[in-house]
Amino acid sequence: MKPFVVPEQSRRAWVVTAPHQQPRFVGGERAPWGTRHVREDGAATTACGLPTTSWFSFWTLGFVAYDKESCPACAQAYARRTPVSR
Ligand SMILES: [Zn+2]
Repeated sequence: MKPFVVPEQSRRAWVVTAPHQQPRFVGGERAPWGTRHVREDGAATTACGLPTTSWFSFWTLGFVAYDKESCPACAQAYARRTPVSR
């Protein structure tokens, strides 16, 4: 399967979210620690259905669906709802 990257435009409506963040700054910013999920901007749950209350949001990160740290269920939901550019 060819890895896909979501274009900047449609990426804005999605936010990378995780229950934990790195204790140290990586490249000037905090990064998620462990599995990265994704939620629609304004949604209270991740694309895979987990409640994100008290979770951290990573506004500047793009969700990379094929990354090993990305939640597979989120990646699937994300791919379904986001048109893939070729
Ligand atoms: Zn998820």
